[in-house]
Amino acid sequence: MSSNPGISEKTPHLLVLGMGGTIAGLAPNPEESPLQYKAGQVGVDALVAQVQSVVPEGVRLVSRQIANINSRNLTEAHLTSLGLAVIEALLDVAIKGIVITHGTDTIEETGLFLQVTCGKLAQTQSKRVILTGAMLPSNAPKADGPSNLLDALRWASTSIDNFPGGIYAVMDGRGCMAMDLAKRHATALNAPLQNAPSSSVGLINPSWLSGVKAVQAAWNEDLPIPKEGEWPWVEILTSHAGARPETITHWLGSAVQGFILAGSGQGGFHDDWVKPLDQAMVQDIALVRTTRTGAGATLRNIPELDRPGCCPSGSLTAPRARIALQLALNAEKQANKAGKPLTWQDFFARIADLPEIR
Ligand code: ASP
Repeated sequence: MSSNPGISEKTPHLLVLGMGGTIAGLAPNPEESPLQYKAGQVGVDALVAQVQSVVPEGVRLVSRQIANINSRNLTEAHLTSLGLAVIEALLDVAIKGIVITHGTDTIEETGLFLQVTCGKLAQTQSKRVILTGAMLPSNAPKADGPSNLLDALRWASTSIDNFPGGIYAVMDGRGCMAMDLAKRHATALNAPLQNAPSSSVGLINPSWLSGVKAVQAAWNEDLPIPKEGEWPWVEILTSHAGARPETITHWLGSAVQGFILAGSGQGGFHDDWVKPLDQAMVQDIALVRTTRTGAGATLRNIPELDRPGCCPSGSLTAPRARIALQLALNAEKQANKAGKPLTWQDFFARIADLPEIR
């Protein structure tokens, strides 16, 4: 839907894609209990209308609703729809930049998904895709959504020369690469990028920007978006005190295709998992090791030798590693269909080995 009905279809504009979330949330009693609310209640056209009068001059906005959900209910079908909409917009000469309003609970998954499937295209098209959201519902007295949306629109449209096209995120006055998002606080206004290498929105930090360029130089080729209904089934399993073999054996009769093992410390898992995981490998279930600690990298053969075929996650968190493994398994299938003998491990390593911004 066009937010400025007078603008012709061909007028260059920013596209705002709505996914729902708290930024589109409503609280029945916003004054007394702003944190008691329903996410995904307000349409993206209304969110855009709220900021329309204060967008920088010359910036025209068009909005499109992809979903209006609480992002804890995000499905793979939603990711497919969003990814296809982003690709379409990146290829549309009338669109200068893209903003996505999204719930923060799973913005981490969407951030990695878009980097891996659209990151190269955004770079070559010199367009920025900016994810944003809010921690307070739209009718809360101090709602953070409008300022986050405005900042996202600024980043999507800024003409700073050396700020490359790519997939970013903005909240609470700071921005990061979307692949670095990880919600690490239940309520803080900067929850999804609290631990991410970031820059102030207003003044782009040169050392962060050179890190962005290093990541982009290393990311050579986007992976295909799985069709709705064709996403590989991957589960996250957490190792803990008192872990049981049944956590693994439970799945062995199912059609599951991969496990992300959120291990303790450096990504080690309980000895009681060793035998059932060997059986999982015999059954061709893909295994990735990561750490449940929330920070730091999981590296090959540390602390013990990895079993052949099991990949460490690098700095990918469990939710990001899960998306990466799903996309890698799908990419392997597509490559093999085209006669290329590439494995999911080849594709997964491309994602896990991307340089970290410091
Ligand atoms: N549960 C909400 C969601 O992810 C939280 C948020 O948007 O901040 O949709």
